[in-house]
Amino acid sequence: DHMLPQPPSFKKKKEYVLEEVLGRGGFGKVVKATWAPSHGTKKEVALKIISKKLVKDNEGIVMDELNVLKGLDHPNIVHVWDNFESRDKFYLTFELAVGGELFDRISERGKFTEKDAVDCIRQVISATAYLHAHHIVHRDLKPENILYKTRAPDSQLVIADFGIAKHLENPDEELLEAAGSFGYAAPEVLANKPHGTKVDCWSIGVIAYTLLCGYSPFRSDDKMGLLKEMTRGRIMFHERYWSKVSKTAKDFIKEMLVADPKKRLTAAEALQHPWLTSGQATDADLS
Ligand code: ADP
Ligand code: MG
Repeated sequence: DHMLPQPPSFKKKKEYVLEEVLGRGGFGKVVKATWAPSHGTKKEVALKIISKKLVKDNEGIVMDELNVLKGLDHPNIVHVWDNFESRDKFYLTFELAVGGELFDRISERGKFTEKDAVDCIRQVISATAYLHAHHIVHRDLKPENILYKTRAPDSQLVIADFGIAKHLENPDEELLEAAGSFGYAAPEVLANKPHGTKVDCWSIGVIAYTLLCGYSPFRSDDKMGLLKEMTRGRIMFHERYWSKVSKTAKDFIKEMLVADPKKRLTAAEALQHPWLTSGQATDADLS
């Protein structure tokens, strides 16, 4: 599909045939659509439709999502393809990931084998290290925003949803307003403290834990309870679910879920962790 002509910068919604809804979010929905501007030219895309009324004074966020993504090129980061608007809506078109959300694969499988978890987490961290090298914080890494390119069990995946991503002025800039998703947001976010790229590393730690056992590392459903669990300094690996998981995997998770962001692994460091570099865990590795 690289042979297709690039669409003209101005086009009308008429060129898109809308198909089924892929997902819904706070500002609108994402639908599968076919771009067919003329006879014989066709391309399937994911069309994110954002209601201008719902984003109101916040129109900048649409441009933020677009501008953050436009400069990026990584196999595990969704490609933005085009954008346009109508009187009451903004439209962003993305490369279509037909394999569904990581969220659904966790639901289907219950949990991942260690090898499958490594394959998944390695790609997510590779993309995240690339983002951080470009001073971009995603801030909303979670299984709903990680999509498989194809339906194959071993499909590559992409990080999507840059709706609250931020481009830092410099690597040390700290963000002040709390943003993210309950259950995946880092303790410094929950505590309303200044935060930076390390929030993504925390979220990846939560995802890795969840993949390996099928449940979340922190279980409280209120903010203060959750914060207490997160900052306790001890991650629970319940024998019944974790006895067959390698020590290296647990070590990786412990280093990602360090409450103090300064002591938490960076994405670049995480990519070098033995769990991700040494292939499969051996029996001798079990603890
Ligand atoms: P929101 O900010 O509303 O969460 P997302 O960008 O996460 O918006 O999109 C919502 C959902 O739509 C995703 O969780 C996913 O299921 C689906 N989706 C988004 N982008 C794509 C895409 N490029 N290909 C396939 N599905 C997508
Ligand atoms: Mg989303």
